[in-house]
Amino acid sequence: ANGSKKVLAALETQMAEAGLDVVLEFKPEGHGDGVRLSHSGCQGFCQMGPLVTILPENTLYTKVAVEDVPDIVDLTLKKGEPVERLLYVEPRTKKRCLGPEQIPFYQRQSRYVLKECGFIDPDEIREYVAHGGYDAARKAFTEMDGKAVCDVISASGLRGRGGGGFPTGRKWEAARIQDNPKKYVICNGDEGDPGAFMDRSVMEGNPHCIIEGMMIAARGIGADEGYIYVRAEYPLAVKRMRHAVAEAEAAGYLGDDVFGSGQSFRLEVMEGAGAFVCGEETALMASIEGRRGMPAPKPPFPAQKGLWRKPTIINNVETLAQVPRIIGKGAEAYRSLGTEKSPGTKTFALTGHVCNTGLIEVPFGATLREVVINIGGGVTDDRGNIDKTGFKAVQIGGPSGGCLTPDLLDLPLDFDSLRSVGAMVGSGGLVVMNQKTCMVSVARFFMEFTQRESCGKCVLCREGTKQLLALLDDVIEGRGTAETLELLETLGHAVQIGSLCGLGKTAPNPVLSTLKHFRKEYEEHVFEKR
Ligand code: SF4
Repeated sequence: ANGSKKVLAALETQMAEAGLDVVLEFKPEGHGDGVRLSHSGCQGFCQMGPLVTILPENTLYTKVAVEDVPDIVDLTLKKGEPVERLLYVEPRTKKRCLGPEQIPFYQRQSRYVLKECGFIDPDEIREYVAHGGYDAARKAFTEMDGKAVCDVISASGLRGRGGGGFPTGRKWEAARIQDNPKKYVICNGDEGDPGAFMDRSVMEGNPHCIIEGMMIAARGIGADEGYIYVRAEYPLAVKRMRHAVAEAEAAGYLGDDVFGSGQSFRLEVMEGAGAFVCGEETALMASIEGRRGMPAPKPPFPAQKGLWRKPTIINNVETLAQVPRIIGKGAEAYRSLGTEKSPGTKTFALTGHVCNTGLIEVPFGATLREVVINIGGGVTDDRGNIDKTGFKAVQIGGPSGGCLTPDLLDLPLDFDSLRSVGAMVGSGGLVVMNQKTCMVSVARFFMEFTQRESCGKCVLCREGTKQLLALLDDVIEGRGTAETLELLETLGHAVQIGSLCGLGKTAPNPVLSTLKHFRKEYEEHVFEKR
């Protein structure tokens, strides 16, 4: 969107014109005197794109335009000098930073899932392999049986990153013990929360780590077939995942007799048709089976009777992307990051009124202050300038999440701490809102989204969300009364109780949480407009 492809094309042409030996294909043995030119996935620093990284110096150029390419070629590639104006300037110290190791946005992160994202060519399996890729899958298939794999995942304390935080090892073990020769592994890439793009970036930036995670999951439960379900609105992710599956097949990692283990594993990439509710696991499986994507009551749980009534595990992209390192480095190493009950790291999509919008990864337990102020660079006004008055709220977890207020700046971001204040990690969307934001409008935005996405199965979700939206319109347009606010609360609780799946159960969260923290704003709409 920012013109990266044009910059890449200009680099290729002008490097060749300058007499440099441009190497476009990755060679594991090295590139001799040539300069390898490669594209990568997202590096996370979205606010500053397009980015160009010069290796091995690790010089990072930000906001690069086609007009900057001649200087990059002449000064940096030919003479080894940096192009000063393309270096990132730290807004608070005004210091020019040569590379990520000097930039607070990167310095303060712990990039685990995102380690290779933005550094390897996602369309080149040999680059992934050169970084140790598929070693963990080889270990799982040649040195471990299913129980040993599930035990390591359980010991690591890995919890599902799709929102619920359910222990992954327990889910896998439940599928492993099913006495059924046919089992499935599904990767849920149907990320649909407004403001969230973590899974998309991993699928686009490092698709092989997801495939490897799925292979290990297949080893764990004894599955021979898997599906990667990607939302159709992510065409690049679909393309990269399909290409990566074809590469893994050609390299012999997928197919019959994986690593000589006697176990087969095949993968297929499926596109979702655009319904948000298909991110719910029973709806997702219905969609794969060719039925209308509607949630079904549980039990039976997918681990017992899932896809085509066979034992199935469904994990989201980020969860599966954590798996290769856990198997490769062991459960203890994984537990060294994060908190006791929420080990490891979490990616967050940081958007809204914040200096550094982008994709970040921090250990669980990092505080909101660390994320919004230190990594995000602080709050901005509506023109993008630093707003010293701070934020009014941070919406966490998308439409199913809740609002965090400035008094929670030092709250650790982990599953249990967030739940204790009525919010949730959700999939990891973090939308920062400055003091000028109207919180009633924010609640309306999310309510409109969930109302539109309700599948219509449950009366309270289908009709209740419509009525909640109408009540919010009444408040915003000055028709509300004190009774409207009471109705919003009563109906909100009713929708939570009377809905079958997470979409309906959490749809009222933005209304209820803004009513709790910003009731005065609702009252101003109701009483002061009269
Ligand atoms: Fe469908 Fe809403 Fe019921 Fe979920 S809660 S099954 S989205 S109607």
